Amino acid sequence: MNIQHSRELYKEAKSHIVGGVNSPSRAFKGVSGGTPVFMEKGEGAYLYDVDGNTYIDYIGGYGPIITGHAHPHITRAITEAAQAGVLYGTPTSLENQFAKKLKDAIPSLEKVRFVNSGTEAVMTTIRVARAYTGRNKIIKFAGCYHGHSDLVLVAAGSGPATLGSPDSAGVTHNIAEEVITVPFNDIDSYKQALDAYGDDIAAVLVEPIVGNFGIVEPEPGFLETVNQMTHDAGALVIYDEVITAFRFHYGAAQDILGVHPDLTAMGKIIGGGLPIGAYGGSVKIMEEIAPLGPAYQAGTMAGNPASMKAGIACLEVLEDQGVYDKLEVLGKKLEDGLAKIADDTQVPVQINRKVGALTLYFSSREVKNYDDAEATNSEQFSTFFHSLLEQGIHLAPSKFEAWFLTTAHTEEDITATLKAAEIAFRAVKSR
Ligand code: PMP
Repeated sequence: MNIQHSRELYKEAKSHIVGGVNSPSRAFKGVSGGTPVFMEKGEGAYLYDVDGNTYIDYIGGYGPIITGHAHPHITRAITEAAQAGVLYGTPTSLENQFAKKLKDAIPSLEKVRFVNSGTEAVMTTIRVARAYTGRNKIIKFAGCYHGHSDLVLVAAGSGPATLGSPDSAGVTHNIAEEVITVPFNDIDSYKQALDAYGDDIAAVLVEPIVGNFGIVEPEPGFLETVNQMTHDAGALVIYDEVITAFRFHYGAAQDILGVHPDLTAMGKIIGGGLPIGAYGGSVKIMEEIAPLGPAYQAGTMAGNPASMKAGIACLEVLEDQGVYDKLEVLGKKLEDGLAKIADDTQVPVQINRKVGALTLYFSSREVKNYDDAEATNSEQFSTFFHSLLEQGIHLAPSKFEAWFLTTAHTEEDITATLKAAEIAFRAVKSR
């Protein structure tokens, strides 16, 4: 595949933009390098690059693009928003309409706030939990990414009940000491952490279905026990549903799982592809926030009309249950096809899938936590990734990311993907 123009643009990008990219994972570091492909158009399930190549897209914008690129209903909403002026710095009825729509879909949200990213949403839920409880520390699960605010950039996989150390330069040890990291799906470690630090814990931060070391579901009873133990310790439960809200059904993962947090952070899908974040919870807790309470959070762009309109339009598309039924059918076809080819080519893999989100791990060991995910074969993933890319199938460039299906993908797209995967698996086998 000729990607000459992408090569030139990447070279130029590196002279203007740090590392040539505005978000590190785009730089192909997770797949042994290579040239990131520069896109100029997305339509439906496809991305079109600057050299005239077409790709079946499984990045899905890292999650938000569940209805496919340039969905007509969302595009119309964004165009209307642009024509009406994009920012007033005053309230609009769109904010009311969207807040109500979110509340109707996710019953644990009695009050919400809109922000501009998942990072902001999570960061603020932690602040609110600290304000509400008057405590400082949080517990998070190893390998779970919650955005790039200081507190959650803490080393993963550090073993049960250990205090965190910073994962990024510029995050101080003092901050990292406020975070305790425990393995996902490991209730004994969680109990140890609470026993050791319970009185200081403001909240536990949970991806109820993990999306950031691949798709990993909670073991039966895990979330229920975490909720119970956390509340017994006088702390709050925060669900980071930035990936999971509206990903698997019309609503949040908490309602599929039947376990409810005190606070929920969202982003990605709810913006229909425009920048957004939102958080919410019970009236009692949310009233900690300014202007009603002492916890401060604000934003020039928060609740801007374009993101509101795009988000409302996206949810309008998703209200049709047929959308999720289709994602399930496509997801199953992809999963079954990949499993069969892996078996035929004798490449050991694990496939974790929930509806239209799937992770293919190169490993013979089940993946239930970050250590399992980390132990999967990175070289094999890189070979597989580059072979698919060369054949016009674009996965996210990391073994820890999910493949995101959209409602624009067709059975033919899956068939084409599986055909390419046969070649990719053979490339993995012959290395
Ligand atoms: N939480 C989760 C679970 C995420 O996956 C992400 C982004 N990948 C974030 C928070 C941060 O969201 P954003 O990139 O919009 O700041």
